[in-house]
Amino acid sequence: MQFDCVAEFEFTKDLREKKSELDAVIEQANKTILRKGAKDAREAAQASDWQLSSDGKRLTLRIESGAVVRAHAALIRLRNFLNEQLGPKLKTGIRGLEIKKFEVKGITLKQPALKPIEITCFVEEVKTSGDKASLKLKDLTPALIEDGAVDRIIRLVEDKVEAQNYEGKGEAKKLLWASTKKQAHYEKDPALELEARSWMRRTHAKAQFVFGSQFVALANAFKELLVEDVYVKLGFREMYFPKFEPWAVPQRSGHAKSIYPEAFFVAVPKKSDPAIWAKEMDYFRITGEVLKDEFASKLDFVGIMSYAQCPPFWRFLEGKVVLDESLPLRVFDWSGPTYRNEAGGTQGIARLEEFHRIETLWVGTPEQTKKITTELSDALTVFFNKTLDIEFQKNWITPWFLAQEGKKTLSDKASEGVGTTDFDAWLPYRGTREKSEWLEFQNVSNNGDKYPKAFGVKSASSELWSGCAGGSLERWACAFLAQKGFDKKDWPSAVRDRVELAPELKFA
Ligand code: ATP
Ligand code: ZN
Ligand code: MG
Repeated sequence: MQFDCVAEFEFTKDLREKKSELDAVIEQANKTILRKGAKDAREAAQASDWQLSSDGKRLTLRIESGAVVRAHAALIRLRNFLNEQLGPKLKTGIRGLEIKKFEVKGITLKQPALKPIEITCFVEEVKTSGDKASLKLKDLTPALIEDGAVDRIIRLVEDKVEAQNYEGKGEAKKLLWASTKKQAHYEKDPALELEARSWMRRTHAKAQFVFGSQFVALANAFKELLVEDVYVKLGFREMYFPKFEPWAVPQRSGHAKSIYPEAFFVAVPKKSDPAIWAKEMDYFRITGEVLKDEFASKLDFVGIMSYAQCPPFWRFLEGKVVLDESLPLRVFDWSGPTYRNEAGGTQGIARLEEFHRIETLWVGTPEQTKKITTELSDALTVFFNKTLDIEFQKNWITPWFLAQEGKKTLSDKASEGVGTTDFDAWLPYRGTREKSEWLEFQNVSNNGDKYPKAFGVKSASSELWSGCAGGSLERWACAFLAQKGFDKKDWPSAVRDRVELAPELKFA
């Protein structure tokens, strides 16, 4: 990889009289700090072609470099060096630094680019040819450079090429286990019957329902049985995770890389002074309409509604070193719904935009995490297979935390157990077992070190890993009712005995 950068330093004083001293300082930089870490001149960075502006206050120079002392690092080193040297020697300092040109050539990609790559900011041009890429960057500031932006831009090119190479391949998927075939007692979409019986009613929002007491009685039976069958046995305790995520959460979890099209954004007034909102108030009084088109400039977009449920937990441990005696930590959360803009299409109670999920989360050493992942996966298998008597399969797939960053591969630590197992149920209303798409109603993941790393959590004596499992009550109910229907005699006894249904509402 070669770097070519042209930068302009602005000084506080006219340096025309001191040109030879300035030359000497740059020569010295070339021999010292721009060489540090390099074996030979080829690996080092080199400042050249420098010129002082006619007023003597600006210096343009070129930095060329190879892959060891990269131009961006060299530029920052040079700035710091000039600052150190120019004060005592020339009685001047640096007032500004502007990057006029920054090119990276000869990037070797792991896979060939299949079509042109576009990067929408900080990049003027990306050229690719087979497994080589070159870049012209723009709008770079010293602060961005110092913060590692150049390397992140190069990584973004690599990621986009990698994504092109998975496109059309579908998610990696491997069948791990299948329950026995079970008798289907029903063949319709249960959402229709749920609405017909007023167990739930569609709201004015897309794919959101008001759930009536009968649906909740069923959901509560699932929850009670889950606690007895799984949580009590395995030592999980309840927490409340926040359901609003300030940007700091998706920034750390990586969801900020790609979540936007699926997010429910949260905005609050920049100022809550009623005078600022006077027009909205009057407009509604007169027209009965909400003047939402004029909101945007008065709002501050502070974050998103909970999307994956577990990320906001991590603030609880962020920046801490957890003692061995507190590990493993085993918790669950069902304190509120999660939200997704399911732009690809919603469906009955199988794909909602507001849904009630049971999130289970564990944190421990790699060994503890692996053990709990297996124990939980096994206990959930018994719970769904025996207690709820659902027909389903388990599949090993792309880990959710990679999928939600737009990737489709298995984890590179899959052999160490890092990855996601989906539980997929047959929905008779969608067609035969063989031809229809099964519904993922639960997953269990070993997330490796991803979350402890992302939130800066450490163990006092070991590497720290975590896992999580998620499934929505709506998808559990969908799988259950789609296979068993609404006649309680066809329900497994554990559920039947626990669900006491209130009389259904009647309307004129
Ligand atoms: P799918 O591919 O079917 O959309 P997903 O991969 O988006 O599922 P995850 O992000 O893994 O699902 O979410 C974990 C669990 O949350 C799922 O197993 C499912 O039970 C539930 N879930 C996800 N999206 C929805 C939804 N839109 N409506 C209801 N439940 C959902
Ligand atoms: Zn999770
Ligand atoms: Mg989804």
